[in-house]
Amino acid sequence: MPEHETFDHDVLVIGAGGAGLRAAIEASAAGVSVGLVCKSLLGKAHTVMAEGGIAAALANVDDRDNWQVHFADTMRGGQYVNNWRMAELHAKEAPDRVRELEAWGALFDRTADGRILQRNFGGHRYPRLAHVGDRTGLEMIRTLQDRGIYMGIDVHMECTIVRLLKSAGRVSGAFGYDRERGRFKLFRAKAIVLATGGIGRAYKITSNSWEYTGDGHTLAYDAGAELIDMEFVQFHPTGMVWPPSVRGILVTEGVRGEGGVLKNNLGRRFMFDDIPELYRSQTADNEDEGWRYTQGDKTARRPPELLTRDHVSRCIVREIKEGRGSPHGGVFLDISWMAQRLPNAAEHIKKKLPSMYHQFKQLADIDITREPMEVGPTTHYIMGGVRVDADSQMSSVPGLFAAGECAAGINGANRLGGNSLSDLLVFGKRAGEFAAKFAQSRKADPIDSRQVEEAEYWALEPFARGTGGEGPYQVQYALQEMMQDLVGIVRNENEMQRALEGLASLRERAQKVGVGGNREYNPGWHAALDLHNLLTVSAAVTRSAIERRESRGGHFRGDYPDKDVAFGKINIIVRKAQDGRMEVSRAPIPEMPEELEQVIDKMK
Ligand SMILES: Cc1cc2nc3c(=O)[nH]c(=O)nc-3n(C[C@H](O)[C@H](O)[C@H](O)COP(=O)(O)OP(=O)(O)OC[C@H]3O[C@@H](n4cnc5c(N)ncnc54)[C@H](O)[C@@H]3O)c2cc1C
Repeated sequence: MPEHETFDHDVLVIGAGGAGLRAAIEASAAGVSVGLVCKSLLGKAHTVMAEGGIAAALANVDDRDNWQVHFADTMRGGQYVNNWRMAELHAKEAPDRVRELEAWGALFDRTADGRILQRNFGGHRYPRLAHVGDRTGLEMIRTLQDRGIYMGIDVHMECTIVRLLKSAGRVSGAFGYDRERGRFKLFRAKAIVLATGGIGRAYKITSNSWEYTGDGHTLAYDAGAELIDMEFVQFHPTGMVWPPSVRGILVTEGVRGEGGVLKNNLGRRFMFDDIPELYRSQTADNEDEGWRYTQGDKTARRPPELLTRDHVSRCIVREIKEGRGSPHGGVFLDISWMAQRLPNAAEHIKKKLPSMYHQFKQLADIDITREPMEVGPTTHYIMGGVRVDADSQMSSVPGLFAAGECAAGINGANRLGGNSLSDLLVFGKRAGEFAAKFAQSRKADPIDSRQVEEAEYWALEPFARGTGGEGPYQVQYALQEMMQDLVGIVRNENEMQRALEGLASLRERAQKVGVGGNREYNPGWHAALDLHNLLTVSAAVTRSAIERRESRGGHFRGDYPDKDVAFGKINIIVRKAQDGRMEVSRAPIPEMPEELEQVIDKMK
């Protein structure tokens, strides 16, 4: 029988990105013992890659901004299927969370009079993103990490959790392995916070790192929690398209926020050709007005390049499909044109977008101060995730909380850029606070040793099958290819039904994959175990996407291209039925209180 080390914590946080760190800090401040587990080294979580900024209505650059405008922008961006209570809490609390981050040592870019500088971003009415050049995530992680260490959190790095354990219907612990030596680890905990990020690795073209295999979504689902909104996957309009080895790497929306424009191979700014009715009154109708907006003219409206990501992505796909794309299958994103308007444009671009300058110089040999970039859509974010209570972040499983990208509700059908980093801070804090309260209210449950043995057996199965069968990477690549082709930016019933058949056969193949070698430093083994998560979230996305027979936000159906009022009143829920099947249902969205309705009406 395999052996494992055992650790005891009141609250266990799984994930050390912005959400996990913020939750751990808050739980620790409540006086409970906190363990923090992460797959990579501390400081390497995906949050570190965040570029453009944190959305919060601080009103430092435009004093017309306030929580009501931010709330209305978030609901409009999410096409009104958001959890309105989460959107309200987020808009109200984000400014305090940003100021708190500053008090803990984060050094933001400044306005001329020394306040936190804010920049324009898609779907935000006013400049709202607090930022540090285009390396905001790095500063955020550095600050939270320092604070977390100062608070005395126990960190278990390079450890993957593969199973949640339950007792009397509540979570009682988690089981995992350390990635270096392959030794098993058992964590006993009174409450658990999932903060594991997204699912982007289920797709072939993605801006997401290797860690994004949908682990938290699957751990929660397997433990009996509900998933919500899984059809809403965000395809960011601007990923690199060339050279092939870097395809999918993100080109921040900050480029467009600073004045970058999208053009097709005819040199036309095609975004002016398709401005949705919902945004017409807020969008510039000529190039000069758009430029003035990016330079801080309060009388100007934002350029159409800063429409929401779902819409910009679809416009780009249309240009490419209709033969007006760039040589390598994208469109052009040009910020070098600013030289026509600013005397020191090259220096200005390098100062505002240092990472983008280096990214293109080093990876594509392009100088963005002199020539346009080639860009195209890339799988970036999932709006769907664990269904949680808006105030406490607890899932439908007692003691199991979720925050950050692996939780859902705040973004509805489409996330506005910058709203993730603020989501991590607002709801990470809340999850930590309520998980600590939950832990303080109860004794530790006993661990069911059969659940642990079963998890150990499952984790070792790929070794028992050895190298005779198929390797895990073939199955992973086939899955990514299929999701990209059949459940991508434009979806159809026939293709998604084919995807379901494909998923069933990939599941069979996954159950037969084997690996060689031993448990030490064995990436093939890790990939074999990840397959269960990738297949589970892919099935959840596909089934939810089949169920939503309309187009809304990140979910576009070629066979149902319009919005349907009836679907605007429901969320799609996925849960594991008693017999192990994936069950899909519809849940009505609770009615919004009148005062919030009025806020939305006022901002229209
Ligand atoms: C290139 C890029 C730029 C972005 N820029 C912005 C931006 O400017 N503004 C914005 O708001 N959003 C931005 N986003 C989105 C944002 O960065 C993410 O949504 C956010 O950082 C997710 O944070 P998180 O705390 O939920 O998860 P993460 O930061 O991804 O952390 C997840 C953690 O969970 C751990 N983990 C996962 N599975 C397991 C497991 N099984 N066992 C143990 N640990 C596990 C990981 O190791 C990691 O520590 C950007 C995204 C990308 C890809």
